[in-house]
Amino acid sequence: MRIVELEARHVRIPLKRKMSHASHVRTDTDNVVVRCVLSDGAVGYGEGVPRDYVTGETIDFSVDLLKRSDLAKQLDSDCADFPAAVHLAEKIRLAPVPGDDRLIQGNAARCAVELAVLDAFGRSFGEPMMKVTELVAPELYKFRDRVQYSGIITNPRGWKKKLYPFVYWITGFSQVKIKVGMAGQDDVKRIKGFRRWLGRKVDIRVDANEGWSPGDVAGRIRELEPFNLSSIEQPVKHEEVACLTEVRKQIKTPIMLDESLCGEVDAERAVKHGLCDLFNIRLSKCGGFIPSLRLAQLAKRHGLAYQLGCQVGETAILSAAGRHFATSVTDLRHSEGSYDRHLVWERLSQEDITFRRGGWSTAIIGCGLGVTIDPARVDWVSKRKERLI
Ligand SMILES: [Mg+2]
Repeated sequence: MRIVELEARHVRIPLKRKMSHASHVRTDTDNVVVRCVLSDGAVGYGEGVPRDYVTGETIDFSVDLLKRSDLAKQLDSDCADFPAAVHLAEKIRLAPVPGDDRLIQGNAARCAVELAVLDAFGRSFGEPMMKVTELVAPELYKFRDRVQYSGIITNPRGWKKKLYPFVYWITGFSQVKIKVGMAGQDDVKRIKGFRRWLGRKVDIRVDANEGWSPGDVAGRIRELEPFNLSSIEQPVKHEEVACLTEVRKQIKTPIMLDESLCGEVDAERAVKHGLCDLFNIRLSKCGGFIPSLRLAQLAKRHGLAYQLGCQVGETAILSAAGRHFATSVTDLRHSEGSYDRHLVWERLSQEDITFRRGGWSTAIIGCGLGVTIDPARVDWVSKRKERLI
């Protein structure tokens, strides 16, 4: 079996809500969607969500990078079985980007190609995406038939400040992530209120999205510690992340890296300098399913914890891939994702895999990603199309 066609698209999808955090505000999402066709007619889809403030990629950069990465040559081989296809997918390397010392510029684009290849071969050989975990990281593989996603609170105003925690509490979410570090907000007051409305039992963690400075970060974290937070995500800018070695000695709450944890170079640095307790692994940010497994392996080897995160604006393609990850990788501290129906106007799939009451979702049983992507819907939101093979 071999790849006979590969195509990249820029799709633009409006969001149902304005999403804001300390470093960005958005009302729509520009994603890269790759379609892969095999010689037996099997079709696979992959998706990446390029964000210039995370991996330095814009949508045009991602599509152009795919165009000049000579994928026709890299993917020019026959695969006799699924393990061979996984091996082929792991070897995908996009063209080097000058000055990219962290080797992360292109991660969203790579994720889109890798998922499309794995989806297509998974369908062709009758294997689910989660089989990749068993093959690549057998020590991490553990099937779960369901997963509970976290609730997220960004920046609700007025009466919604009480509504969101109330809805999460009444529907039985057991973990909630709250965005902090936004200009003009009193985080101590906010977290105090959210803790009161969510109750004592809910696991609350916060994400500062690089919002604090090295000078005040320890103090900011200490004043939130009475509210029993399970972790603090990306408290300072990536450029200033070195300060966390010292900051961690002054606080009790575990630190999670996100913007500063996009690939192996970042992960090795974090371990070497003791920058964090947890990795936030996101498929698009980290370059795909297989590189994400490698990061989880690295975390485990060094005694660090890890969670599965998501990008705002994922369609069912990345949601499904995330579901396979969440239901096959052991010891994920938290899982985020599958907001589809609540967030994007067009999820691109026939099935609705949005999480249910309490954030609960079941494992996807099916070949490849196990969801049916509708080509007409992809056409509808496409802004640009490029043939790669
Ligand atoms: Mg984050």
